[in-house]
Amino acid sequence: MVSTEYERRIAARFAGFDQDGNGYIDREDFNAATKAVLAEFDTAARSDKGQALYVGAEAFWQGMAGIADRDGDQRITREEFVNGAVKRLRDNPGRFGEIARPFLHAALAVADTDGDGAATVEEAVRVLRALGVPDGVAALAAAALDTDADGRIGETEVVTSFARYFTVPE
Ligand code: CA
Ligand code: CA
Repeated sequence: MVSTEYERRIAARFAGFDQDGNGYIDREDFNAATKAVLAEFDTAARSDKGQALYVGAEAFWQGMAGIADRDGDQRITREEFVNGAVKRLRDNPGRFGEIARPFLHAALAVADTDGDGAATVEEAVRVLRALGVPDGVAALAAAALDTDADGRIGETEVVTSFARYFTVPE
């Protein structure tokens, strides 16, 4: 099978989800991501924002598993991720954004330390770094998220960018 550039790019996203680097994506990776974001912003797991992030992460995991876990073993292998993402999401780019929306919404709420309804670019960089994105990449990605350049990052910008990141050729 000839691998397309699109499939290679999707495969590269796998590493971002596989937070513990053990070669497959499962619920533990989503829990690890949640813990990392909460730790970065000194937010307790049992707080309202912490609970919302865990609920969003579980919904995100369930949505991902529904798309990609073909053999139902509660693990998404690299091959399942590539095939699931490429075959199921290419026709419906918004689907990924919707699956991720509750988690992204809750992560923004954690990052929005002054509670004005949006995260700053700096706060978004801290989220991305907590998720293991290298510093330089995180800074560029966060700046790119601020599509109207007002220094603040809202939910629509995050969800739209997230779906585009996974589904549209660069
Ligand atoms: Ca993993
Ligand atoms: Ca599987």
